[in-house]
Amino acid sequence: MDSEAPASQSTRTAIYFDGASSRKRIVELVFSAAIEIRESGELIATWPYIGVRRAESPPGLLRATSETAPPLARLEIRDRDLAVELIRRCGKFDDQTIGAGGVVRIVGWSFAALASIVFLLAYGVPYAAERLTPLIPQSVERRIGEATDKQVRLLFGDKVCSGSAGQAAFLKLVNTLRAGMGLDASVDAAVLSSDIPNAIALPGGKIYLFNGLLTRANSPDEIAGVLAHELGHVHNRDSMRNMIYTGGTSFLIGLLFGDISGSGAIIFATRSLLNASHSRDVENGADTATVDLMHKLGRSPKPMGELLVRITGNQGDKNFSIFASHPLSEERLARMTREDRQPEGAPILTTEEWNALKAICATDK
Ligand SMILES: [Zn+2]
Repeated sequence: MDSEAPASQSTRTAIYFDGASSRKRIVELVFSAAIEIRESGELIATWPYIGVRRAESPPGLLRATSETAPPLARLEIRDRDLAVELIRRCGKFDDQTIGAGGVVRIVGWSFAALASIVFLLAYGVPYAAERLTPLIPQSVERRIGEATDKQVRLLFGDKVCSGSAGQAAFLKLVNTLRAGMGLDASVDAAVLSSDIPNAIALPGGKIYLFNGLLTRANSPDEIAGVLAHELGHVHNRDSMRNMIYTGGTSFLIGLLFGDISGSGAIIFATRSLLNASHSRDVENGADTATVDLMHKLGRSPKPMGELLVRITGNQGDKNFSIFASHPLSEERLARMTREDRQPEGAPILTTEEWNALKAICATDK
């Protein structure tokens, strides 16, 4: 992992080169009608948003130039939040990257995928996110998943719980569900020590169950249902589609030219992924996966619905919670209740395994 601290308190500090001298100046960026570049409070340059462009930079650093400034003038930003904000405000930030990037990266993409991207850039992201997702090679999705994973771990402090008895129980649960759904071992899950009640599926098949959800769960079937739902998202590639949709054009350009891990777009897209709602159809699709899988295992999907409603009742930690990304809990409980079955299959975990899983994060501390 990077040694960089999570960007919880955002500074607006950047490094500025005026293009005339090689002097490195520490400046503050003020976003008003244009970007005001201030040194010790004094305005030293103004960059209109529309003229700001991305320049080549190593991962973890955002470099920007301006068409209205001397050619060698540039800003360097390390703070993620500031980088994301700047990209959001500068509508043409990635405009020239297409010409400047290497075409070599395109190798491995099918013509259909390329045509879709071009189409997408021309006609808008939402429509083509739908068209493009099935064409993205698994290898590319996995790479995006790794970059996303890095962001998630930065955001949540990189604490994956691994208490050994709990981990064994978790693996048993995940493997049972994964096999039931016919997904291969590239689909992988872990418990994050965060107190936020959530579970997420990243592009490429990584699933995180947050301890905040685990501690509020009363039975293995509640958690099994949630994990089955997330596996359904993986199976349907919903997170990939969602990232293209929320990351937008600059994300796609990064995708084409291989500039993914260090780009502001992936940071923005990851955050969006954590807080964005899937559409009702997408949620229904993942819930169908829960219903089918739980029935197949001889268990009921109803406990999952009960868990969701239990959490919806708790308004305290809405940000980043399953509540934000998964609305409509009561409606979903109603569906799960209709699909309720008397358990016929053996419990997925024994009582000891369940207790060990519940304590997976406690034993780490
Ligand atoms: Zn979902």
